[in-house]
Amino acid sequence: MTEALLPIDPGVRRAILDAVDTLAEPAVALLADLTRFPSTLGHEAACLDFCAARFGELGLEVRRVPTEPSTLEAHPGWSPPLIDYAGRDNVVALHQPRETKGRSLCLQGHIDVVPEGAAELWTTPPFQPSVREGRMYGRGAGDMKAGVASIVMAMQAMRLAGLAPAASVQLHAVIEEECTGNGALACMMALPKPDAVVIPEPFDHALLVAEVGVIWAWVTVTGRPAHVLEMQKGVNAIEAANAIAARFKVYEGEMNEARYRHASFAGHNHPINVNFGTIEGGEWNSSVPTRARIGMRVGVMPGYPVRQARADIERLVADFTRDPVMEGCQVKLEFKGFMAEGCTFDPAWPIMRALDAVHREIRGGAPARHLVNAGLTDARFWPLYQGTHATCYGPEAERIHGIDESVSLASMHDVTRVLALTLAGWCGVEKAA
Ligand SMILES: [Zn+2]
Repeated sequence: MTEALLPIDPGVRRAILDAVDTLAEPAVALLADLTRFPSTLGHEAACLDFCAARFGELGLEVRRVPTEPSTLEAHPGWSPPLIDYAGRDNVVALHQPRETKGRSLCLQGHIDVVPEGAAELWTTPPFQPSVREGRMYGRGAGDMKAGVASIVMAMQAMRLAGLAPAASVQLHAVIEEECTGNGALACMMALPKPDAVVIPEPFDHALLVAEVGVIWAWVTVTGRPAHVLEMQKGVNAIEAANAIAARFKVYEGEMNEARYRHASFAGHNHPINVNFGTIEGGEWNSSVPTRARIGMRVGVMPGYPVRQARADIERLVADFTRDPVMEGCQVKLEFKGFMAEGCTFDPAWPIMRALDAVHREIRGGAPARHLVNAGLTDARFWPLYQGTHATCYGPEAERIHGIDESVSLASMHDVTRVLALTLAGWCGVEKAA
């Protein structure tokens, strides 16, 4: 068995960990700066510029990587976009050693965040980061700006210790992890293949070993309008949309049955979820609505090809359209957003063993738990389409995608320590230039 890590000189180890401690306060300030950007879909530009500046301050070569549909849309990992990509180029930074002693590494994080939801439900405003009892609250603080801060701080700690990784290192700040993954795909295709990838998603120090795939589907029903006095003559588009939704719930139940279970999800309570995330429709309270549109997210089991799940969805909608009560109505099905395969990540991969070894050292001896995830991440692209080992390892966060999202600052500090020592043990070290 090859060693997962190069031996780290005890003095080097001490210097790196001391540097991470010295940078504890700047790390919290960086997280606050990142969280202040409301970098929801289409509003990532300012946060990306900020990341480019921070990467530049690390003495790295900074590049912008556009997400170009014309060059990427034939790729099997591509998902149909929701909006245009102009002005939203991903940011990457490259470190090259004077002499390569170890293996190359990519540290990747997404800077897009999901919408804040009902802002008045937040204890403090979602984009005004607030620290309470050792946690930073704010939309995106956990998912995953703490991880992005840890990436920057791990590299900065090495620099402060007078060291640099002795192998090439890529830092990626990407868009659209929350809706397509196309930003991560664009960066993977634009840069040299690394030996491994770590994404510090907020999984509470667990190593990601499996994740579901996801499809975003949009169903628009155009009914037969009528006055409510003669509504039997009409087809209510909102009721029809509800009826379609009910059929998707039946499908969800089927896909959670044992016969579809991937082995990694054997012990999982309910891995496949259909979420109705958006609804719009209707024109007037006293008119039978003409049109209704629902947007949904459908989970896909690893090993169940996303192409097949897509065909399931098409069949389900086509069957519904043929129902006699829908005569004279139109049902339009669109796929925009995720068209993402499920994926597994082998704990025997060297990068997994390396993270586990450093985790044990930093977190008091016990091995890192393994996470089987009913959600998805950008990690899938690397093993599925490039043959590159990848996983997620990141801080403890609460209520990501919910109200009062927060991340533990102590946990973020430990993740920075783990990433910094992983850089040292995976890449080797040399004296900073
Ligand atoms: Zn995330």
